[in-house]
Amino acid sequence: MINSASSSQPTLNSILSNDGKKSRKRENEAFQCHLCGTMIKAYNFDYYKRSNHAIIHTNLQRYICPIKSCGTKTRHRSNMVVHARTAHGFIGKVDVQNCLLPHEDEELKQTVVNCFPEMEATVKNMMEREKKKNLNGFEEEEQGNESDEDCLE
Ligand SMILES: [Zn+2]
Ligand SMILES: [Zn+2]
Repeated sequence: MINSASSSQPTLNSILSNDGKKSRKRENEAFQCHLCGTMIKAYNFDYYKRSNHAIIHTNLQRYICPIKSCGTKTRHRSNMVVHARTAHGFIGKVDVQNCLLPHEDEELKQTVVNCFPEMEATVKNMMEREKKKNLNGFEEEEQGNESDEDCLE
């Protein structure tokens, strides 16, 4: 309802909504893996990006094919999307499930801390939150972050 010509002064509302907006453009920073020296780009304390690197130091396969009878697993979501499209003809968005067992997830988190020691407190918090979540008996889906194309193997 506000005439754009008269909005040279920010209203209180526009200031609030700008502040409340999450991360229009967060800065990617480079972090170095302490195990192998590889530089990765991640947001500050972004677990997901770091876990995509840390998983190469494990034997874990994190994602499982949406076709139950197939059973193919991959380390990276993007690889599973490629698999689902090429092997099963999936088109568009592929619903890739994380199939790590709790003790495997813990192994991955520990590896993330080994690679990126700055994550120790963050990972501890995550583990505590997950414990509570498990007690409550519900699971939250990882938000569809498909920006790991740079991790294609
Ligand atoms: Zn590494
Ligand atoms: Zn498959």
